[in-house]
Amino acid sequence: MSTELNHLIAWDVKAFIEHPLVSQPKELTDRIWNNIKDTLVEFIKEKEVERLEEARLEVMFSRDALAAKLYKDWLATQALTEPFPSVADICLMKEFNDVIVRPADQPVKKKDFNPAIATLPQFVEEWRAKAKLELCKVLPALPEDHPNRDNAWKDPQRLDLATTIFGCGCFNTVSYPRVLFHRCLTSFGMSDCKVTDDLTARFERLNCVPWGYRDKQRCAVPASRFTRTLVQACGLDPETTTKIDMDELDPKFMCLECAPTAGGWRRVMAWNNVVCRCLFHLNMLLMLTWCPLLGESSLEHAQKHCHGAVRWL
Ligand SMILES: [Zn+2]
Ligand SMILES: [Zn+2]
Repeated sequence: MSTELNHLIAWDVKAFIEHPLVSQPKELTDRIWNNIKDTLVEFIKEKEVERLEEARLEVMFSRDALAAKLYKDWLATQALTEPFPSVADICLMKEFNDVIVRPADQPVKKKDFNPAIATLPQFVEEWRAKAKLELCKVLPALPEDHPNRDNAWKDPQRLDLATTIFGCGCFNTVSYPRVLFHRCLTSFGMSDCKVTDDLTARFERLNCVPWGYRDKQRCAVPASRFTRTLVQACGLDPETTTKIDMDELDPKFMCLECAPTAGGWRRVMAWNNVVCRCLFHLNMLLMLTWCPLLGESSLEHAQKHCHGAVRWL
């Protein structure tokens, strides 16, 4: 028992000295000791269980932190033009997790993660394919008469369409591939504290959750519908026009609902900014007129060139 008592004093001396049986003004006599002994021994045993549990978690947290660092080092050697899994996705990856959850008394070194790091390229490829499929699942259903309806719904090229926009709890619209690394989707939040298990504790410490850990992504239907209107205003087909097509064309839009500046100028915006900034006008159910500017910069000039104005309620 003296070992456990020493552990307790080193770990949480306050809990010991403030225990009602210890914190007594009376001198400790043999009689008093015999009376309190069993209760105190029980208390010390319970605290030892608590201490060991905390130590076990700390070992796991430190292994998670090591895995996270090794993943970040690996990421630094990659071309970051494509999305990558979150740190939590990596710590849960079987090859990493098997090392992380080894018994706490087994030492774990950097080199123990080498086999896991070697499988990262393949894991990342599979993760991307899986994430794309998850996103395709929430896209609007294809028309009944689509010639290849059974397979076409999961065609990842649908994600590249200008009209493919996802919603987020932060009330922002998120396009693809940003939806794969949008911070809200992988950062740890208070709502994740509902469960008190090892996994939740690890996510809290990493301040990160795996992508898709919470609710499924949802398609931002109003934003998609809105973008469709913008694409059509440029004379393009929303069924085939990609975000890259829109970026290359780079049409400018002017929102006639946004208040003009003090000098009477109106804000001219790129297509994706219009989607983010002016979508709330939808809720006002006001008649909006959008002028694709295609390189122009003043309202008068725009009106002359406004070949695809959209009226939309
Ligand atoms: Zn968000
Ligand atoms: Zn506006």
